[in-house]
Amino acid sequence: MKNIMILGTGGTIASSGSPGAVKDYSLAFSAADLIASVPGLERIANVRAEQVLNVKSPDITRSGWLKLAARINELAAQSDVDGFVVTHGTDTMEETAYFLHLTVKTDKPVVVTGAMRPPTATSPDGAMNLFQAVVAASSDEARGRGVMVVFADGLYGAREVQKTVSSNVAAFGGRQFGCMGIVHGDDVFFVQQSDRRHTARSEFDVRNLSELPRVSVVWISPDDDPRLLDWYAEHCDGLVLAGMGGGSLSDRCSERLRVFTEKGLIAVRSTRCLDGVTVWQDTEDARAGTIPALTLPPHKARVLLMLALTKTRDKNEIARMFAEY
Ligand code: ASP
Repeated sequence: MKNIMILGTGGTIASSGSPGAVKDYSLAFSAADLIASVPGLERIANVRAEQVLNVKSPDITRSGWLKLAARINELAAQSDVDGFVVTHGTDTMEETAYFLHLTVKTDKPVVVTGAMRPPTATSPDGAMNLFQAVVAASSDEARGRGVMVVFADGLYGAREVQKTVSSNVAAFGGRQFGCMGIVHGDDVFFVQQSDRRHTARSEFDVRNLSELPRVSVVWISPDDDPRLLDWYAEHCDGLVLAGMGGGSLSDRCSERLRVFTEKGLIAVRSTRCLDGVTVWQDTEDARAGTIPALTLPPHKARVLLMLALTKTRDKNEIARMFAEY
């Protein structure tokens, strides 16, 4: 049997509230408590628990990401660890998964999961999600596929996965890219894998870093006051614009942004649309010195831009990274 480490970080899966309720709950259970609450796990793998963080996922920090990646990198070097399950709040699970996808240096499976309902709710979903995540992490076929998210029977690549529903238990999807597979009972059925660079083939190495660059996402709406960009330009190392449609900004916002990109601000242009691609604009005016996020949504572009800025501020190099990861 495989040896799987369960790394707890908090979230609804580890929370408790009033009986039956699906809101107003708080962190209560450790990763060890979670293992003890899942019948049948011992049939699938030898599991060991470790609490790495204990937060609601909107409170996860860049240093929390670094801590989690560092711990996985450390444990992955051990021959008695075959794979990982990270339990995590659902709200920002996709960002943590993508960060790990780009920074853990291993082919050993890393599967992230969580729950929409706390264990104290009526019909909670966390125990089944954890069981399925262990099934996936124990599979020989899961090696080398990068970080994955398992949720409500679906198995998704970290790059593609998104919380697409804010309230029901089937909260995650792969958008236009679909799922990587399905988990059913004690089996996992893989159907596709990512073409993009990740994990052992990623050029990003955060093992010696104590902090990450500060990058924010700015959502741009029609007739926004362009001065909203000033604060970000002053306080961030890089910026991601969630533009309209194919990544458009109003002319006024473009002009204001160009002032900052000409002074060296690195800005990536993504879209508020759920799917599709943000491409290079034809004219300098429309480009406003930005780099297109291509198929990454704004919050994943933020993760990649942070990592890119740990290596370079060269726009061509960063554009290459957006084409490869
Ligand atoms: N607020 C929770 C979190 O993301 C929501 C969840 O886990 O579903 O930590």
